[in-house]
Amino acid sequence: MRTLLLPAGAAGTVETAAEILKQGGVVAVPTETVYGLAADGLNPEAVLKIFEAKGRPQDNPLILHVAEAEAVEAVCHDIPAAARELAARFWPGPLTMVLPCREVVPRRTTANLDTVAVRCPRNAVTRAIIRAAGVPLAAPSANRSGKPSTTAAAHVLHDMDGRIDAIVDGGPCQVGVESTIVDLTGDRPRLLRPGGVTPEQLREVLGELVVDRAVTAQVARDAVVRAPGMKYRHYAPQGQVLIVSGGPEAAAAYVRRRFAPGDAVLCFEEELPLYAGCNPTAYGREADTESLARGLFAALRDLDRADIRTIYARCPQGGGITWAVRNRLGKAAGFRVVGAEEAP
Ligand code: AMP
Ligand code: MG
Repeated sequence: MRTLLLPAGAAGTVETAAEILKQGGVVAVPTETVYGLAADGLNPEAVLKIFEAKGRPQDNPLILHVAEAEAVEAVCHDIPAAARELAARFWPGPLTMVLPCREVVPRRTTANLDTVAVRCPRNAVTRAIIRAAGVPLAAPSANRSGKPSTTAAAHVLHDMDGRIDAIVDGGPCQVGVESTIVDLTGDRPRLLRPGGVTPEQLREVLGELVVDRAVTAQVARDAVVRAPGMKYRHYAPQGQVLIVSGGPEAAAAYVRRRFAPGDAVLCFEEELPLYAGCNPTAYGREADTESLARGLFAALRDLDRADIRTIYARCPQGGGITWAVRNRLGKAAGFRVVGAEEAP
């Protein structure tokens, strides 16, 4: 299959992409979070192609993307007031809600769950494509399963060339990490994945918010989880990622004691001088936490090479978007953290 490259601003892009989607094809689309691998979310054959292109396990459910909040009524029932409040405040934007699912949604989309995840993305061209296709689009991140998500069209092309019908190039993604996921089907709202909408912002609307264990720790392979996708290894380069916590000097001293040829360092721009000679890559500025979210996946992709053995990674502390950065880096590392101050 030849993969078409469609610039987001070009005449005919929306119509071409929508036509492919209506025919049951797969198109990678830009969103403010990461690139999505989109297909007609109500067509099981089309949805199957997403799983095949990604090599994604079929028990990992997909998110349905809608062009406006009203479209959720067609795919969900018993929508709680909290969901309407969250949509009014954060949509279009990087927030996904898990809600009770209607029969029209194929079991393949939800991985056999009786709930479905829905989101309204911010990207104007992608919303125009959803409207023109006339159906909600199922769209997981446009990367090969297990690999870092794609935040630029070049990343998508690298992973998906020849495997999907088209890529809409909308430039680099603004947020850089996948959407926040909140489950509204239990007794209390539960954060399943942190993202561009922060836990603090969610609490302003919801009052309370339970943070699922999978956000901050490794989930056992045989564990019963709210969403099966939570237990899979994710975002992982070929080398082993090890998070080094502690102050800048202590962390650099720890890495220098262990560093061997074939290792690499993933750090903040401010810390680059501390790692001279240790093959450092910066993913953003510690003082600008949004830049860390934006740059993380591109940096992990750069470091995804067979000749790199151990990647010593620096991880930001604090609230807001750093929840999401810690979660993704944690998953890439299998949540392996060493405290530089205590370690020999
Ligand atoms: P991705 O689209 O790859 O960024 O990941 C989608 C993720 O959304 C899945 O891996 C699940 O963790 C979550 N998800 C999707 N549908 C549901 C659902 N019905 N209930 C809980 N989580 C879901
Ligand atoms: Mg993904």
